[in-house]
Amino acid sequence: MSSNKKMLFLPGDGIGPEVMSQVRHVIEWMDKRRHVSFDVQEDLVGGAAYDKHGTSLADATLDIAQSVDAVLLGAVGGPKWDNVARDARPEAGLLKLRKEMDLFANLRPATVIPALAEASSLKTELVSGLDMMIVRELTAGLYFGQPRGVSINADGIREVVDTQRYTEAEIERVVRVAFDLAGQRNGKLTSVEKANVMESGVLWREIATTVGKDYPDIELEHMYADNCAMQLVREPKQFDVIVTDNLFGDILSDCAAMLTGSLGMLPSASLGAPDSDGRRKAMYEPVHGSAPDIAGEDKANPLATILSYAMTLRYSFDMAEDANYIEQAVQNVLANGLRTGDIMQPGMTLVSCTQMGDAVTKELDKLAA
Ligand code: NAD
Repeated sequence: MSSNKKMLFLPGDGIGPEVMSQVRHVIEWMDKRRHVSFDVQEDLVGGAAYDKHGTSLADATLDIAQSVDAVLLGAVGGPKWDNVARDARPEAGLLKLRKEMDLFANLRPATVIPALAEASSLKTELVSGLDMMIVRELTAGLYFGQPRGVSINADGIREVVDTQRYTEAEIERVVRVAFDLAGQRNGKLTSVEKANVMESGVLWREIATTVGKDYPDIELEHMYADNCAMQLVREPKQFDVIVTDNLFGDILSDCAAMLTGSLGMLPSASLGAPDSDGRRKAMYEPVHGSAPDIAGEDKANPLATILSYAMTLRYSFDMAEDANYIEQAVQNVLANGLRTGDIMQPGMTLVSCTQMGDAVTKELDKLAA
């Protein structure tokens, strides 16, 4: 059916197609019960694209990704492509998508679902009710700065350099995304850098402070990255939104992920700059990989991908109520004791990927009744 809500599905490799097919069922439910239809195209990425086109992202696929409102990606990679040339490998397709779409703000929620609070590596009382968001700068900083590389210095020994480089504009745009998010959430933003020892940290702090003047209702605090790592495992509930650079964001978002207990539960979003209509390019994907060890066995946990679709509704389609429905349905299914293998606990009921997806749509039926 034709719709003004255009999405591109890129299931990818391994468990990608299995978890994405469960999102299809949720979309069918949205069509039937909420009378919201999406125009969904599907294409190849990663190893699947390499097998067909000899490249992990065909130009035509990138063109579609650039033209739709949101891309939903499953996962890429697997041992089958381990010996493929680096620039044709599955992961290269994913990196190219992020770069070409200029998806500079990576949103990584760390939400502890009540039924899974005991799966956290921290004490239940520290994480129960945790609901925070890390905004990581994704397209600049240490992972992209020039110069970089190994050379032989004047003493004839090897030396290596990586460069942390940010323009004012690159810092400002990601900080603004984080302020906007804090405004939609609990109104607190923690800007994280190392202004005590890094020049980039000094500029980051200065810009965050200046941008903060446009957001008088948001409480802005600055924190050094090392302290932030400590606070995340000491008292994580003090945070609402954290914004930080590419390197610190990489590390801190993985640390925050572990507070929630399982990789199979974690969604993410990557957003670009708004165009003149306020529409941002966006890609949504679960944090986990293609899990080749269980691919094709109907054992994967589809919830991270279903929750990534909920993020799509919230951030690309301004459909917070529908996103809440889906998030509540996921919570209820878990509260009812259903578990895929990765989150299995004693006394719970082991279900397949398909059964978990079916349970979510059944819960949606109950919520909408
Ligand atoms: P992985 O996330 O694929 O798997 C790690 C472990 O977690 C495995 O035991 C796997 O079975 C389990 N797991 C992951 N997701 C699960 C889910 N939804 N349900 C149940 N169990 C789940 O990480 P890996 O093993 O390091 O990487 C495998 C492949 O995935 C590699 O080729 C890697 O490059 C790729 N990868 C892709 C992405 C991505 O597409 N964004 C991210 C990470 C890794």
